[in-house]
Amino acid sequence: MSDGANDCVEPRKVDINYETEEPVLYRVEAGAAWITMNRPAYHNAQNSQMTYALDAAFRRAVDDDAVKVILLAGAGKHFSAGHDIGTPGRDLHKRFERTHLLPDHVNKPGAELLYTREQEVYLGMCRRWRDVAKPTIALVQGACIAGGLMLAWVCDLIVATEDAFFQDPVLRMGIPGVEYFAHAFELPPRVAKEFLLLGERMSAQRAHGFGMVNRIVARDALEAEGRAMAANLAEKSRLGLWLTKQAVNHVEELRGKRTAMDAVFHMHHFAHAQSDLVRGNSLGGQDAKSMAEANRRQADKAS
Ligand code: ZN
Repeated sequence: MSDGANDCVEPRKVDINYETEEPVLYRVEAGAAWITMNRPAYHNAQNSQMTYALDAAFRRAVDDDAVKVILLAGAGKHFSAGHDIGTPGRDLHKRFERTHLLPDHVNKPGAELLYTREQEVYLGMCRRWRDVAKPTIALVQGACIAGGLMLAWVCDLIVATEDAFFQDPVLRMGIPGVEYFAHAFELPPRVAKEFLLLGERMSAQRAHGFGMVNRIVARDALEAEGRAMAANLAEKSRLGLWLTKQAVNHVEELRGKRTAMDAVFHMHHFAHAQSDLVRGNSLGGQDAKSMAEANRRQADKAS
């Protein structure tokens, strides 16, 4: 047994097959940066290749003074099915150049590996994107599940299509919600409990009723609505836009958003660790296939 001073392990060797070298698309149009997740074959499941590309895209949008507003969209049928827990491009054990002052995760033993990684790619990046100095708009169609919620929630405004739905089913993995725990800020507490405990789909219409979604549009009107909102914002003062979003973000902090999220992040990692100890799997014995099957069974029962 080591004394813990230098207990690193050999990084696990895993085959990674990326289906694209462009997991995120970027374009600027009329003062708006369009950042589009581009893994439609996997419903925009987020691997690290994608989260680092998203981070770079936000950086690019912030650096470009011609950009006044940022839109975040997903290519294909769905906004995002969540974190990548099973595509050939799953790259949990790959080393990336970190964007925060955090150590590399791949050679860390036990629970330290996921704890280090998720501080960087999930909690850390989501907080950066939420506080980005320009207004952001999420354009959500189809599924917005678990890790997908985190990307929609970090945006200042959310436009959803009539067929969009929101869901956080990770309790099935023994986990109390995704890493960016904004559930009880986005939804009234009892609704947040229902959302987490039952893990059912929430329609865009119901989410709109709680103020979690700003507008609902037809599927084919999503881009046009985003463009119209962006045009409205693009003619306003850059600093004014930044201050205005910061004002509301600050109120959320006064209500304890950041500290609540820190506390739950640690529960989240206690749950990962417990799963690892008891089942030898940090996801409670679940994988992408078993989660999708359970979801389908639940949706069938509900309909
Ligand atoms: Zn996690």
